[in-house]
Amino acid sequence: MSHVSHLECSVCGRRHEAGRVQTLCECGGPLLVRYDLEKAKATWSRDSLAKAPPNMWRYAPLLPVKDSKHIVSLGEGLTPIMKTDRLAAHLGVSQLWVKDEGANPTGSFKDRGMSCALSMCLELGLSKIAVASAGNAGSSLAAYAAASGQADLVKNLIAHKAEVNAVDKSGVRNGPTAPFCIGRHFPGSARKDGRLP
Ligand SMILES: [Zn+2]
Repeated sequence: MSHVSHLECSVCGRRHEAGRVQTLCECGGPLLVRYDLEKAKATWSRDSLAKAPPNMWRYAPLLPVKDSKHIVSLGEGLTPIMKTDRLAAHLGVSQLWVKDEGANPTGSFKDRGMSCALSMCLELGLSKIAVASAGNAGSSLAAYAAASGQADLVKNLIAHKAEVNAVDKSGVRNGPTAPFCIGRHFPGSARKDGRLP
């Protein structure tokens, strides 16, 4: 069960309602998800965490999806942490650990965000998605849109040229996941998906 309480503008701090479609704040600032941490602390035990699934959704109480039937997961998260002695010595620190996000399903940390984004699209009843990407976000969105089983989401996937190439390499383009090319560079695509003015 999610303990989300509201959304908050990262620039001006204005409070916005959660559980409905939102984009940017009126000031242009991105919105952050806020949680009732006291309620989570009172109801979320170490024992339940130990029995949770071995992926990002083990932390569902502090993720925004309210109904678990909407979760779109390919097993993202719980990536390995590796001790890097040579790099630590090079940087002059006693220990250095690196989390290998390349172990995620499509090879990048974008899978965490896309798993959450596609889950929220299902929960909020959204049927169209546009994304600006230099590569790995497009690959990830294609994979999670396909996993969601929602043809409308997949058909409306929009990408630009570099992203199309990345999706081709990821091997998830077959079937209904073909992206559309709408621009040659990231800012142009970002304007079309509404993230930039
Ligand atoms: Zn704001």
